[in-house]
Amino acid sequence: MTFTEEIKRRRTFGIISHPDAGKTTLTEKLLLFGGAIQEAGAVKSNKIKKGATSDFMEIERQRGISVATSVLAFHYKDKKINILDTPGHKDFAEDTFRTLTAVDSVIVVIDVAKGVEEQTEKLVEVCRMRQIPMIVFINKMDREGKDAFDLLDEVEQKLGLQVTPLSFPIGMGYDFKGIYNIYEKNINLFTGDSKRNIEETIAFEDLSSPELERLIGAKAASTLRENLELVEGVYPSFDREAYLTGGQQPVFFGSALNNFGVWELLDCFVEIAPPPRPKKAEERVVEPSERQMTGFVFKIHANMDPKHRDRLAFVKIVSGTFERNKPYLHVRLDKTLKFSSPNAFFAEKKEVVDQSFPGDIVGLHDTGNFKIGDTLTEGEVLHYKGIPSFSPEHFRYINNADPMKAKQLAKGVDQLMDEGVAQLFTLELNGRKVIGTVGALQYEVIQYRLEHEYGAKCTYEPFNVHKACWVEPSDPNNPEFKEFLRVKQKFLAKDKRGQLVFLADSAFSLQMAQQKYPSIKLHFTSEFE
Ligand code: GDP
Repeated sequence: MTFTEEIKRRRTFGIISHPDAGKTTLTEKLLLFGGAIQEAGAVKSNKIKKGATSDFMEIERQRGISVATSVLAFHYKDKKINILDTPGHKDFAEDTFRTLTAVDSVIVVIDVAKGVEEQTEKLVEVCRMRQIPMIVFINKMDREGKDAFDLLDEVEQKLGLQVTPLSFPIGMGYDFKGIYNIYEKNINLFTGDSKRNIEETIAFEDLSSPELERLIGAKAASTLRENLELVEGVYPSFDREAYLTGGQQPVFFGSALNNFGVWELLDCFVEIAPPPRPKKAEERVVEPSERQMTGFVFKIHANMDPKHRDRLAFVKIVSGTFERNKPYLHVRLDKTLKFSSPNAFFAEKKEVVDQSFPGDIVGLHDTGNFKIGDTLTEGEVLHYKGIPSFSPEHFRYINNADPMKAKQLAKGVDQLMDEGVAQLFTLELNGRKVIGTVGALQYEVIQYRLEHEYGAKCTYEPFNVHKACWVEPSDPNNPEFKEFLRVKQKFLAKDKRGQLVFLADSAFSLQMAQQKYPSIKLHFTSEFE
């Protein structure tokens, strides 16, 4: 296969949803249909939930929340599919945002009864801003939920999308009979028995045929005809270009648990979803077809194998061919590195590969060279644009609870911060360490991981901070800046990169500081122009 063909057949995407909408179930069904795993299904759902193929971490099993982002790859038809799994829990939203820098498209799962939920809104907004192509899957059609048209309206209004249904449900809940596939013009009928899959697929170009009455009954037939007429009247027809540029979002209906509508989704997805897209670096835009290898780290995962202490850095290949044992430039460190055992991912397994292509994710064993956002090239100085750190919302002092293990604690904290689990601030006044996180749950994760991976123990102490903001460096002779440093000494800290941070203890003090020191620029993300 030529290099160009390799690129064209890759589909790298993420599935996003509010927790419990059915992301794990859908992922599993896609893997199952792709032949990547042998079994899944309603019978084992509890077990699957606990030991889901896409979850690596022990801690996750305890909580039933996707903490880890993992890669699941399989072949379907002639395509190579890479699914980047994303945690749905809001405390891990940053992890998900970072993963969205590595996907070429997204499937949004929505629960038919709950409609658009909070996490869906936030994640879709990030995708919309980045013009990532999105397909919407309305799940749990086997349950009573919202009317299909109402839900389409809700998706348009709350998520700011331009939808066009490519499949349409026939009935819902108890009366759910099947799916009309608008894209392929056929009908898939299901039996009432949820353990059975598709009963028959019938090509159905002509909806006025009396055959429809025979298949689904008079009432359902006339409702379907009316609905499809309405769809045709109200929604624009599918426009691939608009989909690819983020201007239109196709919608599918189904029930992942019962395999309804999943084939329709998958078959259409492999046809319309984009192959690897060009990516912006600070210096220029890089095309996947360029021969020189470039890629960036979007995720660092520690300790997937508890027997080995090393970490795995997940690199998205943007251009060229990544080869085993070839020297690459680590741009930030200005250092040449070779990788003797790069991992590729297949279903829930990983294996050493010789070559990876644009769109692929390789896992590189790392002993501490990588941070999130690092770029690898064949020599060119390039910096891929990632997602900056956001101002954390929770702050606590971290203390060492076992004086014999101070070194382990320092190392553990250091590495967890590189992974992007949380942010560490060192107070200017007394050198005390403060951990800032997006969600409260991360404190438990850190404590647990420090103990299990580094043999270190920590305790926390409350630290009252309203917001952390990065202080744009200013002329040290600027009297206003000098005064700010002196007056606010108690509230100043350095982040891991040595940037100055102002920890405002209330919304009021933040506002006062902004008024009193107008020449000092405060930012809510770590990167500013
Ligand atoms: P996630 O949190 O988005 O990954 O959601 P899961 O895939 O774990 O699903 C959450 C719950 O919804 C589980 O109990 C699933 O069995 C259930 N579920 C998923 N898909 C469907 C569906 O199509 N119909 C019904 N009735 N339940 C579903």
